[in-house]
Amino acid sequence: MKLKFDSVLRVPFYAHASEEDWNSWQWQLRESLKTQEDFSQVFTLTEEEKSGFQAAKELFNIRATPYYASLCNFSSQASLRKILMPSNLELHAGAQAQLDPLGERKNNPAPRLVHRYPDRALFLVTDICSVYCRYCTRKHFTGHAQAFIKESEYEQALSYLRSHQGIREVILSGGDPLTLSDTQLLRVLKDLRSIEHIEIIRIGTRMPVVCPMRITSELVEAMKPYGPIYVMTHFNHPRELTAEAKSTLNLMANAGMPLFNQMVLLRGVNNHPAIVQALSRRLLYLRVKPYYMFQCDPSEGTDHLRTSLEESEEIQRELWGKLSGLAMPHLSVDVPSGGGKISLVPNFELARSPSGRLYKGFDGVSEEYKNPLNFKAELPSDVAQYLPEWEELKSAKNKDRQAEGQVRYHGNISTTTNIAPNEHTLSQTF
Ligand code: SF4
Repeated sequence: MKLKFDSVLRVPFYAHASEEDWNSWQWQLRESLKTQEDFSQVFTLTEEEKSGFQAAKELFNIRATPYYASLCNFSSQASLRKILMPSNLELHAGAQAQLDPLGERKNNPAPRLVHRYPDRALFLVTDICSVYCRYCTRKHFTGHAQAFIKESEYEQALSYLRSHQGIREVILSGGDPLTLSDTQLLRVLKDLRSIEHIEIIRIGTRMPVVCPMRITSELVEAMKPYGPIYVMTHFNHPRELTAEAKSTLNLMANAGMPLFNQMVLLRGVNNHPAIVQALSRRLLYLRVKPYYMFQCDPSEGTDHLRTSLEESEEIQRELWGKLSGLAMPHLSVDVPSGGGKISLVPNFELARSPSGRLYKGFDGVSEEYKNPLNFKAELPSDVAQYLPEWEELKSAKNKDRQAEGQVRYHGNISTTTNIAPNEHTLSQTF
């Protein structure tokens, strides 16, 4: 079957927008829908959706670009509406509503920095997104109009990154880093690249999904000197892979940016193996590795969107062997309260003994895998050459913490009840 990528059909409300406007990311952000009145010009809202606006607007910001609203508007694509349409179900307490399910505020050593793993740090450069996804994990930070980090805080964050030599990888996130202007984004990339021990820069973004016109050939060219830059996209559904998204992904892949996708399993949106396989195969065809299939975090107001662990595992088991290893995303759950990621894999083991293990494969073939006879451990002869690097990686975070005398910073990431007013020395430019 030939894979098809159709252009987004504009809803009638945008029929008169010029091509130039429609294809301008600044126009898409300027014209984004934020209120019930805005949405009712584009969508025929159901009674339930109308009450959702009243109920949920206090809990989490509401926003959609004209492009993504057009993609979600048609009834055949109703499942996508659940991603952007607020619901009064968000106010239900749920099984485990957490404001900060990833425990980021416990690992917040400098403004807008989360340092949870030894060799990686998350840099929340802006809290703004062009679409506010109802399942967002970072509601404690995202969408509070703090925008680009303040100059003084930016310098503090850079100074932390400079002085912690164990940090090899910085993940730009937010909010969505690609809502920053080219000037702001390039400045951040340049500053990070000037830190010698930072090897990898990652950008986590949903812009290729909700506003693909953001990624221009000028931007991609200007980013090239700061590579390697890994781009983590966030497509959740095959319908989001439009002709426009395809062009954007091609642009980035042709510029040598490795592309990975992180999807979230969402009830009533994509929780079926048929949908996950369609998404994964299309992504792979467009040179995007399907990387994670996340269990939705128990962020506040998400109970109605979450799948059960059993359902997610069943989807994964169904896909196992039918999708190639390249196309198969890892099912992963973040242990609530900041316990880190755990990969879930189907259990194919039937029995084990010292001599081996008995497995039954995905299509029912069972056989024992036997350990070597008279097994004796043997190390690679050149391992010593790599041990210092390995020891350094294992102890990076502890050493850094000892060096700073366990001083932790908890004051920057604001909560929904304590939103820090922000003065911006570099303002948003859309
Ligand atoms: S784009 Fe990401 S950070 Fe922004 S609302 Fe969606 S899930 Fe949250």
